[in-house]
Amino acid sequence: MPSAKIFVFAPADQSGASHKTLEDQGCQLTLGSASWATPQGNNEDEMVRAAADADALIGTSIRSSPITRSIMLASDKLRVVAKYTIGVDDVDVDAATDLGILVTHAPTESNWGGVAEGTFAAMLCLLKRLRERDEHVKAGGWRDESLQGSFLGARDSDGYEGLTVGIVGLGRIGSRLSNLLRPWRPNIIAYDPYVPDSKFAEHGVKRVDYDTLLRESDVVSFHVVLTSETRHMLGEEEMSMMKPSAVLVNTSRGPVVDQAALAQALKDGTIRAAALDVFEDEPLEADSELRSLGHKVLLSPHMVSANTSGGLGGLREGIAWGTQDVLKALRGETPDHVYNVEVIDRWRGRFGGTSVI
Ligand code: NAD
Repeated sequence: MPSAKIFVFAPADQSGASHKTLEDQGCQLTLGSASWATPQGNNEDEMVRAAADADALIGTSIRSSPITRSIMLASDKLRVVAKYTIGVDDVDVDAATDLGILVTHAPTESNWGGVAEGTFAAMLCLLKRLRERDEHVKAGGWRDESLQGSFLGARDSDGYEGLTVGIVGLGRIGSRLSNLLRPWRPNIIAYDPYVPDSKFAEHGVKRVDYDTLLRESDVVSFHVVLTSETRHMLGEEEMSMMKPSAVLVNTSRGPVVDQAALAQALKDGTIRAAALDVFEDEPLEADSELRSLGHKVLLSPHMVSANTSGGLGGLREGIAWGTQDVLKALRGETPDHVYNVEVIDRWRGRFGGTSVI
């Protein structure tokens, strides 16, 4: 008889192999209705019912209901909430920590490296006006001055200094982006109050404060985690500090940017263009103003990291990490990818060495 109960709140493993791995270990699975393609899924009441008596919750990002305190309180046996992806803003981590429950995540290189590559591609698409040129030629046109792109890097031959790229958040993705950019020779500046000077030096990036970054950058790219501090950190006031020729890239989390203020800034020419992979509500509303702003926006359905080598959204490895983290927690062993590390000692005191599989 199965002894451990797992609620897969947002299944993403289309092959079902990871579910079978868990079932083979004696786990009983309940699958939620969210998925990678449709992250809405169940509402909180339904999730509370599905999480009753669960030993573990696991899944990809979920948009309908975050994993709230009420959902975690549905089971006094709950050991772990495991995410297949980077970003735990859809889990009430403070409540989990308070309740002594581990939260794990899966920052795989396929995922974060994929975001960095996709961000760079979006940046180049806007700077080089690739869509405009393509449409123009397909419509029968030929050379036109309005289709000129920007030259990104510094030039030795004539002293052209190159554009300035401002990176907000110099973590995994921000750092990889700076590494990808460096051979192109732009000036790279970054704002991140939580990393040491040595990290800026290691990536050849100049440390600046946030206001300076907004004022000096030709491209502003966001790579912060979503917290109460970063929510709407780019609003109307901050956009008014940017150059009118500047382009914005946001592949971090939608609520980092005030979306209504952005639509207005694009319409009135406060900034030139924006590439967005993430939105305040996902999927983006059918009647969102952003859909009607033409070349001023380059939109992507929150899959900037998705790549064939890593499975959907770079998920294959993340699913494997999450599955192993859950199995370890069910065996009373500390999982490898704990996010709220401060809870580990307390957790070991309660569950350490006690297996339910
Ligand atoms: P990370 O934790 O390695 O880096 C985040 C950085 O943000 C850290 O260096 C941190 O110091 C910095 N930061 C925190 N608060 C800040 C603030 N107020 N101002 C400036 N910097 C601040 O995370 P990561 O793996 O690089 O991921 C970055 C973001 O990308 C996250 O929001 C994540 O959810 C998102 N992400 C999106 C996708 C996607 O599909 N679009 C995929 C993966 C990750």
